[in-house]
Amino acid sequence: MKTINHFINGELTSASERHAPVFNPALGAQAAQVSLASAGEVEQAIAAAKAAFPAWSNTSPLVRSRILFRFKMMLEERIDDLARIVTAEHGKVFEDAKGEIIRGMEVVEFACGAPSILKGEITEQVGTGVDAYSVNQALGVVAGITPFNFPAMVPMWMWPVAIACGNTFVLKPSEKNPTAALVIAEWLKEAGLPDGVFNVVNGDKEAVDVLLSHEDIEAVSFVGSTPIAEYIYTTASSHGKRVQALGGAKNHMIVMPDADIDAAVNALTGAAYGSAGERCMAISVAVAVGDIADELVDKLAAKARSLKIGNGENLGLDMGPLISKEHYDKVKGYVDAGVEQGATLVVDGRNLVVEGCEEGYFLGGCLFDHVTPDMTIYQEEIFGPVLCVVRVDDYATAAKLINDHEYGNGTSIFTRSGSVARKFSHDIQVGMVGINVPIPVPMAFHSFGGWKRSLFGGHHMHGPEGVKFYTRRKAVTARWPEGDIGTAEFVMPTMK
Ligand code: NAD
Repeated sequence: MKTINHFINGELTSASERHAPVFNPALGAQAAQVSLASAGEVEQAIAAAKAAFPAWSNTSPLVRSRILFRFKMMLEERIDDLARIVTAEHGKVFEDAKGEIIRGMEVVEFACGAPSILKGEITEQVGTGVDAYSVNQALGVVAGITPFNFPAMVPMWMWPVAIACGNTFVLKPSEKNPTAALVIAEWLKEAGLPDGVFNVVNGDKEAVDVLLSHEDIEAVSFVGSTPIAEYIYTTASSHGKRVQALGGAKNHMIVMPDADIDAAVNALTGAAYGSAGERCMAISVAVAVGDIADELVDKLAAKARSLKIGNGENLGLDMGPLISKEHYDKVKGYVDAGVEQGATLVVDGRNLVVEGCEEGYFLGGCLFDHVTPDMTIYQEEIFGPVLCVVRVDDYATAAKLINDHEYGNGTSIFTRSGSVARKFSHDIQVGMVGINVPIPVPMAFHSFGGWKRSLFGGHHMHGPEGVKFYTRRKAVTARWPEGDIGTAEFVMPTMK
């Protein structure tokens, strides 16, 4: 059985005594085992990152940028290899796996701008012969803890910006699909990244807890479910660390009576069922406003029934399996609960069998109509291919639903009315808003993050917020008088 190890100080390594199985979810079979790092192994990774920090933080941003640029070129050339790894361990279809790598690569491209994104500010002559300037300096060793659903992209929301800013990094990827992070670590080394700047420890809560409390970790970036995000935020903050912890979601799309229904249906189909709904930006609730609900549900049902589902290695498919048997049971349990609580199951994806993959964790697309806010399937994040339609009479009720929900990650509206769209984008209590677009994932040079219980901490990820998160500002006031500093007259503007 293949063992997936850690990457510490430029080497693949492991002395771990504990292991966890890694599955191919399309086949429903164990493909490898992953080492679960002990506290001692995590400490080794932190020590390697700490040792690498002085030289790396003093390396010119231009040199850091060149290494990232070489990595980006390698990633472009080898994208199919990495996508195949993502598909095998996650289950998402090959084109989707490539898509996530491209979105991650865009953050690398942003980070290649290290010399400009790190620029500070200067004001001349704040006093006689006195200048003031601010610089952005690296924090030190920073950690990233990431979820299973984007094993390549979500780590790339973090480490490219962190290391471009001069920090060194310890990544703890999801133990469900750990290989992509290790491949990236090896490619970074090949691109010229010095040993110790980027380290990967595989593991579970034992490894995470070391990262949250170790005195040499300055900041923690987390993406995952809300209960764990809250735990990470509370624990790491109590140890004095800077924390950004992105959590779960329940994203709504409002379809107004004047919307282009076919465009809305296409958008909803991709956003609800793409990647089997295992996206934090999946749309899991369609809010049908006014008299369009019947047409919307009929058209959505036809799309859900025609989804091409199978082993993501094969081309031309829409959807692969769920990540694990445990998650399959959980999602199916939600569908059962929706039926029991009185929602209308228009398309039932349970009992799907994919030929040649009979043991795989496949659930067909499910569509519920007449869902109400008191139902579990409305309140909780399902994280599967299940779309709920809620019918309301007017825009105000639709917007209130979204504002009242505990999550505030993403949302969108389909309408032909500029004033309704403008009102929506202004009023809605959600971090990422789309207008006539299905999934409003911000580009790498903007920042990504939700509101309410979808994010704990003050900073969103990547883009300008990422740079702020991974640096601290220093304000310098300087005077270089001619002659002897000790005797030169010193006048600040307030000292008349
Ligand atoms: P998860 O919370 O189970 O795991 C995330 C990470 O936390 C993993 O590395 C895991 O090993 C670690 N972890 C799990 N339990 C832990 C514990 N008790 N103590 C310490 N660490 C622990 O999430 P997941 O199932 O891997 O991913 C799916 C979730 O991630 C969904 O809720 C989804 O919405 C969310 N997500 C959010 C975003 C976003 O941007 N807001 C993006 C992607 C995924």
